[in-house]
Amino acid sequence: MNKTDTFDVIIAGGGPAGTTASTLLAQQGHRVLLIDRDLHPRFHIGESMLPMAEPVFERLGIMWDKQHYLPKNGAEFIDEAGGVSVRFPLAGEHQPYQVERASFDLMMINNAEKHGVIVHQQETIKEFNCSPDEVSIRTDKARYKGRYLIDATGRSAMTGRHNGSIDRIENLGKFSLYTHYSKVDSDTATPLFNSGDVKIISVDIGWLWVIPLAGRRLSVGLVVQKEIAPADRDPSLFERYMANSPLLTAVLQGAQRDFDIRAEADFSFTNSSRHGVRYACCGDASGFLDPVFSSGVFLAIKTAEAVADRLHQALIEGNEGASDLHYQGDEEYRIGFDSMRLFVERFYHSGLVRNLFSVSDRSEELKKDIMGLLAGDLWSGNNAFQHKLLHSRQAGDLKQ
Ligand SMILES: Cc1cc2nc3c(=O)[nH]c(=O)nc-3n(C[C@H](O)[C@H](O)[C@H](O)COP(=O)(O)OP(=O)(O)OC[C@H]3O[C@@H](n4cnc5c(N)ncnc54)[C@H](O)[C@@H]3O)c2cc1C
Repeated sequence: MNKTDTFDVIIAGGGPAGTTASTLLAQQGHRVLLIDRDLHPRFHIGESMLPMAEPVFERLGIMWDKQHYLPKNGAEFIDEAGGVSVRFPLAGEHQPYQVERASFDLMMINNAEKHGVIVHQQETIKEFNCSPDEVSIRTDKARYKGRYLIDATGRSAMTGRHNGSIDRIENLGKFSLYTHYSKVDSDTATPLFNSGDVKIISVDIGWLWVIPLAGRRLSVGLVVQKEIAPADRDPSLFERYMANSPLLTAVLQGAQRDFDIRAEADFSFTNSSRHGVRYACCGDASGFLDPVFSSGVFLAIKTAEAVADRLHQALIEGNEGASDLHYQGDEEYRIGFDSMRLFVERFYHSGLVRNLFSVSDRSEELKKDIMGLLAGDLWSGNNAFQHKLLHSRQAGDLKQ
């Protein structure tokens, strides 16, 4: 093994979590190898950002180019059947964006490389071993050693699936069907691009997302929460719900579909082994939540930031092998993840849009609290609605 094969930190996965953790560690002078099985740019779903992600992007040195990324100003929840619609403004101190993930993920991986991360694309990790003394990795191309492994492999959840620590969350969304449209030039669509709002349309089997992207393009998807036989999970289901939506029918007049309808399953799960000796997970690899509140990339980069900051200190002190390295920080993760999870559960199981969002117009305090959660303000400790969510069940009811 020659010297160049040994790293301070090996990062598995080059999505938002992996690129965030690797950049922050490389900025501090650590020798970081990031391995991603994909070659960027590549398609990925997950396009709507939250405001509270912005301070992390600032730390990373990300500059938003408005030609590629559309400023997002709010989130509107619509119940077309019941004639209810509630909008929450979200851009304030921090400006979030709607992003096409191919260019966003490319920007993030290029930024990591610019900060000194050694990036290997089109390389897949096949085996890993985290011993008390070191980490070793075998990919389809080579072997590497390091002092620490960060698992940022997204919903592949490399270490979690290896450890058998992944548990499905059954009562949230089960699968999704989606596509992109271009030439979304109808007059009805213009306010959508001007506001940059994400729209969430409740339907009887789940919800539809409408995300405006730069260049008058639109991402549209259906998330299904009800049990539907696998044989019926086909594009015609998506087309039926699109056709039934007056808003989408009007907005998409004359638009062009960019690719065949795609599907994602393997929905919400928790991972009860988020960290161990010489490894920690961040992003979807630590747990994945139904995307109704667009929390995925935000949680990915916040968990990556937290793991990287703790690890930086430990690498300096030489105690990165300590088994309790992430013990305290993990409690913070639990608060954030559980808050969002309980919020999503309310969306499905208590008619959130009709029963709470519309009522919030009459209570400034409640509206402010809901906006806080929708913006990703999960750790300030002064959100009464979040407090109520977290205490609505015994802590033990939520698995890991
Ligand atoms: C239908 C749907 C809609 C969504 N909408 C939103 C949204 O609007 N807003 C939002 O914020 N989030 C959304 N999300 C969630 C978002 O996609 C994820 O939370 C986010 O991509 C997580 O980032 P990550 O870095 O953890 O994982 P990923 O972005 O998935 O990156 C993981 C990377 O690891 C690589 N990898 C995996 N295994 C290996 C291996 N063995 N070796 C090497 N590389 C490997 C993969 O190729 C990938 O590049 C949505 C998700 C779904 C399914």
